[in-house]
Amino acid sequence: MTGDDNSALARHLHQLSRKLPMARLLATLRVAGARVCGVSLKRGHNSVRLVFEHGRLTFRGLWMCERRYTCPTCSPRWLRKQRDAIQMLLADNDTLGGDSVMVSLSLAFPLGLTLSERWGILRDLNTKLGASKRSRTARAAAGKIGLVKVVHPIHGEHGWHVHLHLLYILNRGITGTEADKLKQVETAVWADLADKAGCAAEPGVQTYTRIGRTEGDFKRVARYLTKGIQEIELGRKAPNLDYYTCRLERGKNRSPWQMLDDATFHDDTDALAPLREWVEVMESATFQTVHLPRRLMTRLHEDAVAVRESPAGTAKDEVA
Ligand SMILES: [Zn+2]
Repeated sequence: MTGDDNSALARHLHQLSRKLPMARLLATLRVAGARVCGVSLKRGHNSVRLVFEHGRLTFRGLWMCERRYTCPTCSPRWLRKQRDAIQMLLADNDTLGGDSVMVSLSLAFPLGLTLSERWGILRDLNTKLGASKRSRTARAAAGKIGLVKVVHPIHGEHGWHVHLHLLYILNRGITGTEADKLKQVETAVWADLADKAGCAAEPGVQTYTRIGRTEGDFKRVARYLTKGIQEIELGRKAPNLDYYTCRLERGKNRSPWQMLDDATFHDDTDALAPLREWVEVMESATFQTVHLPRRLMTRLHEDAVAVRESPAGTAKDEVA
């Protein structure tokens, strides 16, 4: 084995030493007798093999649970696909001359609601925001052709909280003034909707950020929206990706993966009850954490490839 292979193996073993204890703890929060992902052998297989594929080490012959949202082993694999897809979408749209705007929307919920109730309210308000005439007009004026939606649940002093990140894909470049105008209209609608739902949403708290048009920007946005990958793999050492963070993700608030890290490796028994609630909600199939505009992505990718392959070069210069 070469030195590279050795360090890849060391990294892999380190990840196993993190993920297996987390998976075991999660299994205790599920119904009795829940299997631990990555441990039990498939029926009829009595050998486990370690293989190196696509630049990664993987065990073969293990039972995998394929849970997208609540498995320290399977979630990162799924999240990595979402991350790469988001990055590609931004790069394709950039080739075609389009900007993007990262929106973070949050609410102050009444106390005492469950995670599922809070999530339900957020989802309902997001639907109403998308249906609002004022909001639709403002989005159309900005050239919005689609969006990526990501929900981040976090836990803090007042229990569970869920907030929303929307990445607007625009078919043209916009100015800062135009982005501000969009923010003004939508945050006013969002505040009205929150009010009617018995919540509160200060317009000043919501953020609308025009995303830069470099590969580094696309990477940062994609990494931020799928930050669970780093929270699972690095625990407390995960870098603070606060480039787009709304204020809710700072301070004492923790993501479910950070709580799982604390419960598994730092004896935080207070984290167990909220984690049990999180597992129950995430595994009920009622809520989706990531939504990608698949059809738009396919179309933009085809168009972007055609532009890149055309002798005239990119469409970017004409629009900028
Ligand atoms: Zn799994």
